[in-house]
Amino acid sequence: MSNRHNEYMREWRAKNEEKNKLYQREYFKQYYTSEKREEARERARKWYKDNKEYAKKRSNDHYHTTKTLKGRPSGKQHFAWKGDKISYGTLHDWVTYHLGRPNKCTHCRKTGNTFQIQWANISQKYKRDLTDWVRLCSSCHKLYDKGKIKLN
Ligand SMILES: [Zn+2]
Repeated sequence: MSNRHNEYMREWRAKNEEKNKLYQREYFKQYYTSEKREEARERARKWYKDNKEYAKKRSNDHYHTTKTLKGRPSGKQHFAWKGDKISYGTLHDWVTYHLGRPNKCTHCRKTGNTFQIQWANISQKYKRDLTDWVRLCSSCHKLYDKGKIKLN
């Protein structure tokens, strides 16, 4: 979708915020009655009963990706630390872990998702240095790698 369309939709949404909220509430009430809710609950209960093993495994997976990561050794204290000799992908994961997912290009100010905005290495030596990384959109990233744009 074009930027102009997005702009229009944003304006429309802002202008009709109250109306839309009300409409959504009414819509929700109409379709999500207490019987429907009870039905959904019953369905979920039945699903858990039938898929006990799977549900248990999934909740364990979730536990391992959220809770146990906190307070665990990371960085230089971590047993799997490989120093500065790590692969391109791992380095990007490391940068994303410490600086978050980029969503805005520092050069042209374009915003986008993870695939459109990337972490680019300033020195191009791929050092493990968090100050050596900037957010760039894919087109600026290509231009930068070719030396066609300068970053300040
Ligand atoms: Zn850009």
